[in-house]
Amino acid sequence: MSVPVLVSSCLLGVSCRYDGNHSLADEIVSKVGQMHLIPICPEQLGGLPTPRPPSNILNGDGEDVLQGRAWVRNDRGEDVTEEFLRGAHQALALARLMGAQKAFLKGKSPSCGLRTPYCETDAGDGIGVTAALLLRNGIEIVEVNAE
Ligand code: SF4
Repeated sequence: MSVPVLVSSCLLGVSCRYDGNHSLADEIVSKVGQMHLIPICPEQLGGLPTPRPPSNILNGDGEDVLQGRAWVRNDRGEDVTEEFLRGAHQALALARLMGAQKAFLKGKSPSCGLRTPYCETDAGDGIGVTAALLLRNGIEIVEVNAE
């Protein structure tokens, strides 16, 4: 059996983005059948609806959220930190259950991105919440940039 790998669902064409669209990435779709891909959308796994208001990490990035010194708020001013954390932990639970040691994650997302601009850091970008939790737990992340 091929090695299990997590993948952001939106990269496979699933319309799970905040705006109800997807971020289909041909380079990822071409791996279907070659790898045991496990689609995840942490924001949906955390209980958020689709479509949903876009969110930003305030006072830091995803690693700071994990450490309890930053939070996530949507553009309606609602705190969605709990949902982002729940989704990250659900993604990690799936990775452990399936034995995944690698993840293809969509860039720029405040959940999945290795480098998201939707945060508040001195550098101007930072890691997303789910990406930070997976990385912390030894899972290799390959960032996929797709619109
Ligand atoms: S980037 Fe991650 S959280 Fe955002 S829609 Fe895609 S899978 Fe879901």
